[in-house]
Amino acid sequence: MGRKTHRTLGDLVQDSRWLYVQCRECHHSAKLDPREVQMICYRNNYAPVIDRLAGQMRCSKCGLKRVYLGPCYPPGFI
Ligand SMILES: [Zn+2]
Repeated sequence: MGRKTHRTLGDLVQDSRWLYVQCRECHHSAKLDPREVQMICYRNNYAPVIDRLAGQMRCSKCGLKRVYLGPCYPPGFI
């Protein structure tokens, strides 16, 4: 028993989860492939730690950096 914790993007990849992103301001949301986000982290020298990325990602709609990040099921998951 016990819920899996997803602390890093690698944890999401290993657990076949995607990254759910929702803006706390305008509630725009998106599902991102954590492997693509890992690539962005490598290029920008960001730590691939979910809690820390929340302060670095910007909403693509309203441009504010107030996003919630969490695990989600990938698209097409039944
Ligand atoms: Zn927004």
